[in-house]
Amino acid sequence: MARRRQLYEGKAKILFEGPEPGTLVQYFKDDATAFNAQKKGTITGKGVLNNRISEFLMTKLAEINIPTHFIRRLNMREQLIKEVEIVPIEVVVRNIAAGSIAQRLGIPEGTRLPRSIVEYYYKNDQLNDPMVGEEHITAFGWATPQDMDDIIHLTLRINDFLTGLFLGVGITLVDFKIEFGRLYENEDMRIVLADEISPDNCRLWDAKTNEKMDKDRFRRDLGKIEEAYQEVARRLGILPEAGARDLKGPETMQ
Ligand code: UDP
Repeated sequence: MARRRQLYEGKAKILFEGPEPGTLVQYFKDDATAFNAQKKGTITGKGVLNNRISEFLMTKLAEINIPTHFIRRLNMREQLIKEVEIVPIEVVVRNIAAGSIAQRLGIPEGTRLPRSIVEYYYKNDQLNDPMVGEEHITAFGWATPQDMDDIIHLTLRINDFLTGLFLGVGITLVDFKIEFGRLYENEDMRIVLADEISPDNCRLWDAKTNEKMDKDRFRRDLGKIEEAYQEVARRLGILPEAGARDLKGPETMQ
């Protein structure tokens, strides 16, 4: 089969034209970047695991009626998704202080926040994804007030659900980043969850030991990165059947 037309290559994923109009193929790479791509590396098997973990979490969210772009997984590294217009905002939810909020506000890492805090960052690599408020988002037209109502409502539901799901497998959901898109169907437009949810964009700590099980192991050179991603998949009960040995997966496109 002919190689599909590539539409976009990001830091961790590639988007290809899908088999039908209105669909795309999302390919998960092993490449890892941090600090706005100043630090680069490869985490062997990450793409395979993130493909599987994101499939699992999006499917679970769909079961509680969170609309998502996910259609189905195609193979070890690819999933079929609905084509959406990405809202250029990264939505970050924090339950426990870590990373930039700990630094910015001088809150010791690990402090439980008085309540979950939602932050927005404007997706712009040249500007280093600056933090913005709802005022900026609506004033500059990146999203409408109605879009923001939907985004906030969905985000809080996603946080509640994922917090419980992870806690059930002994993992604390410290914080995470999600993205939304506009899905156009007939005359209607709906806001849906897009991108991915994986240890690349969540902070996941072992509930007992607080050991980090996410991309912070790469960012902070803590070692055992592959093992941490695998352990998240194992606890969720979704390690690929072939087990850890086969995580490299096929190099060729379907
Ligand atoms: N995050 C992300 N992509 C980004 C920035 C942050 O996925 O470009 C995730 C990150 O993995 C963490 C959460 O969002 O789970 C909050 O990140 P923070 O603002 O603390 O940023 P960082 O530690 O990356 O400076």
